[in-house]
Amino acid sequence: MIVAERKPLGEIIGFIEDFRKVLVIGCGGCATVCLAGGETETKIVGSALRIAARKAGRQQQILEDCVTRQCEPEFVEPVPGRLGDENIDAVLSLACGVGVNLLAERLGDVPVFPGLNTKFLGATAEPGVWVEMCAGCGNCVLHLTGGICPVARCSKSILNGPCGGSSDGKCEISPDVDCGWELIIRRMERLGTLDRLVEIAEPRDWSSSPHGGPRRVVREDLRQLAAEAEEEKATTA
Ligand code: SF4
Ligand code: SF4
Repeated sequence: MIVAERKPLGEIIGFIEDFRKVLVIGCGGCATVCLAGGETETKIVGSALRIAARKAGRQQQILEDCVTRQCEPEFVEPVPGRLGDENIDAVLSLACGVGVNLLAERLGDVPVFPGLNTKFLGATAEPGVWVEMCAGCGNCVLHLTGGICPVARCSKSILNGPCGGSSDGKCEISPDVDCGWELIIRRMERLGTLDRLVEIAEPRDWSSSPHGGPRRVVREDLRQLAAEAEEEKATTA
């Protein structure tokens, strides 16, 4: 999932304090799973903003909503209509950055502010702790490393590790950080595939990573199906 955490309340108040009517929108996807921006957190943030406005003597109305997923156009489709009907003049999104971007593209003149800091792609390690597991590099090499990611879980993202700085299974950057390459080696030992690491990984082409500019995935088969459905709709209308 995409892991995010709420921005400090003071920062959020700074974004919205000049607006008369603000809609706080949560997300039922990853932001719910990582307990940062689901329905419950939306209600908590809404209440906190109302209390802060009252204490500061601001005439401000805070409304709340939570959509199934802010990263899917079909779920954010009703939002612009609601803004117009209820004269809402700013939106605070409690989704990841994808949700904020999508709302910003669709909400015309209404400003959208981020209520969360989007952190990484990761998983729950223990209650209250999430760890990064994939850096979205666009060319997965997990088949070579026993399913443990050297890009996200090695602090230097090296593909021929370890670097020599690890100590007692921890990375040289901190005793709190597991050495990703130690994890890879232990895993490959268990799988009986350690001998594969003898092969030196070639320098990789990083153009599929985020540093190559905004990326796209295009599925021509799905585009074709959508075009056919549109055509059928037009002929039966
Ligand atoms: S190799 Fe790339 S795609 Fe695969 S898990 Fe690591 S960062 Fe993600
Ligand atoms: S100690 Fe391990 S995780 Fe840290 S940089 Fe070196 S190989 Fe990577």
